[in-house]
Amino acid sequence: NTLLDTLNFDNRFVHDLPCDPEPDNYRRQVYQSCYSQVRPKPVKAPRLVAYSKEMAKLLDLPEAACQSQTFCQVFAGNQLLDGMEPYAMNYGGQQFGHWAGQLGDGRAINLGEVVNREGQRWTLQLKGAGPTPYSRSADGLAVLRSSIREFLCSEAMYHLGVPTTRALSVILTGEQVVRDMFYDGNPQLEPGAVVCRVAPSFIRFGNFQLFTSRDDLETLKQLVDFTIKTDFPHLGAPNKEVYLQWFAEICRTTADMIVHWQRVGFVHGVMNTDNMSILGLTIDYGPYGWLENYDPDWTPNTTDAQGRRYRFGNQPKIAYWNLVQLANALYPLILKAEPLQDALTVFTSTFEQNWQQTMATKLGLKAFDPGSDETLTSELATLLQAAEADMTLFYRGLAAIEANDAVAVFQAHLEACSYEPLSPETLALAEAWFQTYQARLQGENRPQAERQRAMNAVNPLYVLRNYLAQQAIDLAEQDDFSEVWELLEVLRHPYTEQAGKQRFAEKRPDWAKQRAGCSMLSCSS
Ligand code: AMP
Ligand code: MG
Ligand code: MG
Repeated sequence: NTLLDTLNFDNRFVHDLPCDPEPDNYRRQVYQSCYSQVRPKPVKAPRLVAYSKEMAKLLDLPEAACQSQTFCQVFAGNQLLDGMEPYAMNYGGQQFGHWAGQLGDGRAINLGEVVNREGQRWTLQLKGAGPTPYSRSADGLAVLRSSIREFLCSEAMYHLGVPTTRALSVILTGEQVVRDMFYDGNPQLEPGAVVCRVAPSFIRFGNFQLFTSRDDLETLKQLVDFTIKTDFPHLGAPNKEVYLQWFAEICRTTADMIVHWQRVGFVHGVMNTDNMSILGLTIDYGPYGWLENYDPDWTPNTTDAQGRRYRFGNQPKIAYWNLVQLANALYPLILKAEPLQDALTVFTSTFEQNWQQTMATKLGLKAFDPGSDETLTSELATLLQAAEADMTLFYRGLAAIEANDAVAVFQAHLEACSYEPLSPETLALAEAWFQTYQARLQGENRPQAERQRAMNAVNPLYVLRNYLAQQAIDLAEQDDFSEVWELLEVLRHPYTEQAGKQRFAEKRPDWAKQRAGCSMLSCSS
């Protein structure tokens, strides 16, 4: 009997889908099954680092419950509540463009599906709670630094209005985990941690791909029908027509998610098809990053540094490529290519439309005028890149510059946002761009206060800059969790200027440019 007894479980995934008959967690290939039953690995000394109040509230968990010992035990994987039926999901995927076969939840364990008082469904998932049949050669664990990064970013993205999986808690396990963060051949011990992630569903493109790759169309159909019935009930009873509508909806929500990423300057870093949510949610926060100096070719992932497949400017194309892979996986249920191809155009048209409207709003324009604004936005991209301007600060500050301000005001703003002194060529580019922009603004004749309000609602002031996360991690590794809480609090209101929080809205300092964890990250987590 605990404060957590309010959690009401109804585990559809485990009850309605085929289960791996073996309950052991040794590593293996699992066939004709959507998941395996597993047990989280008990840990020595769980200690709460932080939890999300908003997420707790959505689960109907009172504050006192989150501060209890039981909370810490349960969300570190030491204790199961009544109704929890832990399992790891089976899925595959393309990694960096190549089919990787079975991957699965190698270090994620779903505890069950909670139905809250409002009837919303939330799957609780521990990340880093020990090995599963899908752990391959790895340990099933996670370290504090990557757990804090996932916890903070999930919540930050939610408050930014970006579709995302959520996070309830991050808990130190009291155990040491071996990691080779710098690939220097010297493995180090790092503090272990467990994040409780939360989402309506954690199903990925790769869950479907795996069964098609094995020609297991029966399990494929079961999973598709289940997903439509549970997560897309508005589409009605599954049939071939509904499969197509469903796929079109995935194309739409995925496009919408990518527009949001591009709007806030988020780079996922590992857009493999096993990291693409069927609900169009940002999922699997690994070596992600935020654009500081605007650079469409930047990727935060050191593993991707060569190919730059997952660089900022490539994200829309990769999302489309991933959707094509999902279409291939669904093809055996539909047996016609053309309607799938038609559905794929939903991605392109949704992206195009939303992106144009988003860019117009970011620039303080009422609507996107294709005649002039294609050039306006592409020339701005060229300018920001040439100026090495901080993307977040640039857009935020642009709202304060008015249609009749002098060119010098704009140039000074750009200079203030830039990581390097501006060259005469860049200053000339800035002048030319600003003149076009001014003319465009004057044509709209929009009240300045209205323009500023609209811009500030889509251009955040506070984002989880890579170095800010690293500073919170450095302190947390010394048992000081205050900066994690402080960041969590500031990032709850990313569009509102907050008194005394200026240090969270500044350019990346020089020291952070080269420091590990502050810019590029390895997949070691
Ligand atoms: P990711 O690139 O993080 O999405 O992970 C790709 C695959 O590797 C997934 O199947 C993960 O579950 C698995 N994986 C990543 N890290 C670990 C780990 N430390 N232990 C077990 N499996 C892992
Ligand atoms: Mg993953
Ligand atoms: Mg990962």
